[in-house]
Amino acid sequence: MHILIVEDHPAIATNLYDFLEARGHIVDAAADGITGLHLAVTQRFDGILLDLGLPGMDGITLCRKLRREADINTPILMLTARDTLNDKLKGFDGGADDYLVKPFALKEVEARLIAMHKRRGGKVTNCLLKTGDLSFDPKTLFIQFAGASVKLPRKSLRLLAVMLGEPGRVFSRRELEWEVWGSELATSETLRSHMHELRRALSRAGGYDPIETVHRFGYRLITHPPS
Ligand code: CA
Repeated sequence: MHILIVEDHPAIATNLYDFLEARGHIVDAAADGITGLHLAVTQRFDGILLDLGLPGMDGITLCRKLRREADINTPILMLTARDTLNDKLKGFDGGADDYLVKPFALKEVEARLIAMHKRRGGKVTNCLLKTGDLSFDPKTLFIQFAGASVKLPRKSLRLLAVMLGEPGRVFSRRELEWEVWGSELATSETLRSHMHELRRALSRAGGYDPIETVHRFGYRLITHPPS
């Protein structure tokens, strides 16, 4: 799933980010309400983790704006430190789908996100991603290419997971940078070097490179081995 975390507490945000990313999800994060709203409106997410108390714009206002002004229905799981019925009700009135009171178990967060996503009729992409000779299992992080297993560093793995989401489609460099590094500033050299590392690891394992450079634009994962 593609998940947005809007949380200003650095330790909580990092824990959520690391846990969900390690579980094979694609995660973006914002530390304030304004950035969170901007991301939620400009990108498509499968679920949003939204803290109630945020600088810039609180979670309830963000939620309300998203639902009523931007007409965006992405499932929202509200995270709240204030265990009062009143806050919970306000959260639901603003259009949140579910809530969790801090402190929460990380596994519980993932389970609720998946449940909300399914209730909306969404497919959970926590299943095997596959094209041609290449497969990636987001649950075990096991990558296989032409019969050989491949080990990849985290960012290269995420790059591969994004491209495997739509094999054959051309991804622009900007799009890949945004999907993998989000608002962390990535230079053009960052993508280039991770892409190089990914292609080298795959070529070494499978005997050929399944990624094509699309001149002046970006990259594409080929769907059939070259003949
Ligand atoms: Ca907070």
